[in-house]
Amino acid sequence: MILELESWPEVEEFLRDNSIAILPIGSTEQHGPHGSLNTDSLIAESLAKSVSNSESVLVAPTLRISVSSYHGDFPGSLWISPSTFRSYLKDLLDSLLYHGANKIILVNGHGGNRCSLDEVSLEFNRKEEETLVVPWTWFDAIEETVRNIFGDKMRHADGPETSVLMYLNSQLVHEDRLEMAEDSGGKEWRNRISGTPIPQSTEKFSQSGATGEPSTASTERGRELFQAAREELDRVIKDLSSR
Ligand SMILES: [Zn+2]
Repeated sequence: MILELESWPEVEEFLRDNSIAILPIGSTEQHGPHGSLNTDSLIAESLAKSVSNSESVLVAPTLRISVSSYHGDFPGSLWISPSTFRSYLKDLLDSLLYHGANKIILVNGHGGNRCSLDEVSLEFNRKEEETLVVPWTWFDAIEETVRNIFGDKMRHADGPETSVLMYLNSQLVHEDRLEMAEDSGGKEWRNRISGTPIPQSTEKFSQSGATGEPSTASTERGRELFQAAREELDRVIKDLSSR
């Protein structure tokens, strides 16, 4: 059930028998000169809406602006502070819990949110016995599949992420800019000091805003990654339902 498309009597009836909600969380931030700023939101939202047991899961509206200040030097990137994000998320979770959705999956598309999602989840999971908040970042969940297909882990706006964007909406990818994004992009996510990655603005290690090898992106690869992520998410829902 897509929450925002229903009227309250339908939601009331739905929550009488069901207690799992999905909150898609993305970002509005640069994804290289080739990818749209909604990449993370689109992927999280599409995964949330694609689950096979969609008739027994409540999909909340997507949270589209989050912890992205390090992309702020690239035009259009929007952000809120981690503390604002956490407090907004907590209020949002409280309102879902109030209505009876007490198993909540945070389907996340943005790496910069992970610390905050863990922190907030812990806070809720410690408080209430019947409450379970599960932070779930799609590219972490399919790390092995990403490695099998691309031979490496996922980086920002690189081959894997661009592939999924291409698969979901090819019009949002400027394919003619992939080579340029790669040539003037960062080889790695973040500069390192003797192996230790240093938190910095993205422009310090990537002129294009991209990292890795965006030119390896393809629609077919995106389809494979998306299906793998969807299957993983299905498993999480199945597990939650049995609890
Ligand atoms: Zn992204």
